[in-house]
Amino acid sequence: MRDEGARHYIDLERYGNTDSLGRIFPMTWPAAVALWSEDSLKAHGIGPWYAQRVYWNLVRAYEQNDSTGILRHSIDLAHYVADLNVPLHTTSNYNGQKTGQIGIHSLWETQIPERHRTTFRLNPDRNSLHCSYFENVEYEIWSAVFNSHSLLPDVFQCENKVRKQLHGVAIDQYVARGRTRQLMRSLEFVDLYHQLLNDQVENQMRRSIHCISSVWYSAWIDAGQPPLPIIERSNPSKFKKALDWLLR
Ligand SMILES: [Zn+2]
Repeated sequence: MRDEGARHYIDLERYGNTDSLGRIFPMTWPAAVALWSEDSLKAHGIGPWYAQRVYWNLVRAYEQNDSTGILRHSIDLAHYVADLNVPLHTTSNYNGQKTGQIGIHSLWETQIPERHRTTFRLNPDRNSLHCSYFENVEYEIWSAVFNSHSLLPDVFQCENKVRKQLHGVAIDQYVARGRTRQLMRSLEFVDLYHQLLNDQVENQMRRSIHCISSVWYSAWIDAGQPPLPIIERSNPSKFKKALDWLLR
């Protein structure tokens, strides 16, 4: 899909520093196109706008009792919202390529979860809400993006601290993953970085889960709380396929 890549991120520094962003956004897609042109917006990522669009697709699918649409748009929305909760999806320095920190992207979103997720506390406890109704979905999506972006100084600084700490030790190597070879940090590096980040990845995962369940729930409310279509038990492969796609 031609524009698919652009739907998963936004290079926020293009629009000013972190403190001023709340004065510019949320901005509707037509207003943004009028200001910056569609090509230019797509060149810098359109994540928050696209998530908003999929949200309304989901509302429509609920209204039309379209079980396939509900499933498809829910999964798409989860993927886009989860990506926007990853700090490195909100910057043009998404893989540390501008600061000599190449490989930081998979270090943060792949290596830390793979190695430490069994210690993550992701189940909502009695004191935290499973999901909320978002009065203003557009605003909530942009807020999640601003929050992610505000974490970037820590994301980069902690990585540099670990580099200094491990000075003289090999910190990364190319590792075969599926059909590709990826630059991965050593396990020692992953552990030190995880420690310095002080549960940042876990916290973002929790925020992401809350945000996703809330947009799903809000879309159903905005559609007028229709009875959910019954999906025949004889077709579990539909769910299985959807789950596999989400987790890939
Ligand atoms: Zn990513």
